[in-house]
Amino acid sequence: MSALRKCTGALLIAALLAGCAQPESPAPVVPEPAAATRGAFQRDRDRIVHSTAFRRLEYKTQVFVNHEGDLFRTRLTHSLEVAQIARSLARNLALNEDLTEAISLAHDLGHTPFGHAGQDVLGECLREHGGFEHNLQSLRVVDQLEARYAAFDGLNLTFETREGILKHCSARNAQQLLQAEPTGPARRFADGTQPSLEAQLVNLADALAYNAHDIDDGVRSGLITPAQLGEAVPLFARLQATVLADHPALVAAPGRRLLAETLRRMLSSQIADLVANTAARMAAAAPADADEARRAGPLVALGDRLQAELTVLQRFLFQALYRHPQVMQTTALARSALADLYAAYTADPAQMPPEHRERASTEGAPRAVADYIAGMTDRYALREHQRLTGRRLFDTG
Ligand code: MG
Repeated sequence: MSALRKCTGALLIAALLAGCAQPESPAPVVPEPAAATRGAFQRDRDRIVHSTAFRRLEYKTQVFVNHEGDLFRTRLTHSLEVAQIARSLARNLALNEDLTEAISLAHDLGHTPFGHAGQDVLGECLREHGGFEHNLQSLRVVDQLEARYAAFDGLNLTFETREGILKHCSARNAQQLLQAEPTGPARRFADGTQPSLEAQLVNLADALAYNAHDIDDGVRSGLITPAQLGEAVPLFARLQATVLADHPALVAAPGRRLLAETLRRMLSSQIADLVANTAARMAAAAPADADEARRAGPLVALGDRLQAELTVLQRFLFQALYRHPQVMQTTALARSALADLYAAYTADPAQMPPEHRERASTEGAPRAVADYIAGMTDRYALREHQRLTGRRLFDTG
């Protein structure tokens, strides 16, 4: 009887979730006929994969600079891992997988070279000129900067994909975006509503992905050790203990296989927890459709215990890895490289290729220079830095 009730409950939740999946939207920025062979969100995803900005992610840093090793994550492999986790969650929650994948693959397109250090530098350089935020930049890339289509600037994506890309936005930037597009993706920041469930899901998949792969890369680099993790991070210690209990041979030979299996279980347990907790929240809020779900507060979330454990893990990574003296040293060099580039191009826009030079004369040098620098890969930025200053900042081999 209780099994039957449980089954009926699960079916009701599945039906509820399916009703809240984002339906296909026929409304890109510029009116365009529907594609004959694919849906609107599939087309968004395909355009993202074919964009220049997407290919650049291969040579943009997540935590470690590209030349430090071939096996570290880049923004490209990070984006693929986010898409994998997010699609898996979307399938389990009966949400729109195509939209989820499109948002995942586009979510980091606006990142500068050298990770967050680059964003901070451009933010300082543009303080008097509208500032710089990577989420906003991702939207600029897909709305304006990609130049591949004859009929429009950018990729002409649907509202829902653009809404998912604009994950954060300051009140000032939201106001500016709203002036240009009153019903656009910045609307929700003024209204205090949530993005689609698919966008909420990608935000969490992003965090799950980088927490796991930053541990992996951190250990590979030698900057942190599994022993440190076992001491400071209960989630890691708990799951490593389950691996060792199931595979006692690994006690005598801990190494990459033990770490990989622990991280695999960490991700699996977070995914299972997120699915169960989100389904419960959906059942409690019972929104009728995707729009009502936007007004229902955050519905995609981990349970309290795992969320608390994740906070401990993130604090550890921040202190032990992101603030590790070796990472800080690289970050300081990267910051000075980008500040030098900004100064050199604004002083002499003729140092930029023609299309960027042209934009400097129409949009003003600060924004055109920031767009140019933000689009650079790590190694292109270093080459340009050497060309303009004669100095070589990193030994890139
Ligand atoms: Mg990301």
